[in-house]
Amino acid sequence: MQIRYHCPTETCVAIIEYEPLEECGETMECPRCHTKHPMTISEMIRKEDMADRCAVCDSTELFVRKDFPQALGFAIVVVFGLIAIYYFTVSVVIAWSVLGSAILLDLIIYSVLGRVTTCYACRAEYRKCKLNPAHEGFDLATSEKY
Ligand SMILES: [Zn+2]
Ligand SMILES: [Zn+2]
Repeated sequence: MQIRYHCPTETCVAIIEYEPLEECGETMECPRCHTKHPMTISEMIRKEDMADRCAVCDSTELFVRKDFPQALGFAIVVVFGLIAIYYFTVSVVIAWSVLGSAILLDLIIYSVLGRVTTCYACRAEYRKCKLNPAHEGFDLATSEKY
């Protein structure tokens, strides 16, 4: 299992990626601010390769979402948008086809993407592990608690 999380030190902006999480000790040192933070590796993470509670903040509220790289989604919109703007002066049909293919491309990428388990409280992300069937998709009401 791989974990990716923001350093819990408030003044630190480091994003820490660590793998394999199941072999992590009781603390993890931030490579940037060198603060050691406690890590709680649950039995389920160690033995079943499945997250049931957050290793960083110990919250049990996690959700599963598609692992869509936002930068890529944004790049597709910008690039295809510019091409479409250019073609609107030439042919509206071509311009709309360009926009249509951008949507299609997004859909194709979306359908082949993996899933990532995310912590509501601290947004730590868990990858390369089994999905816990108890976790559902993102819920706004749960998210607003934090
Ligand atoms: Zn740090
Ligand atoms: Zn957390």
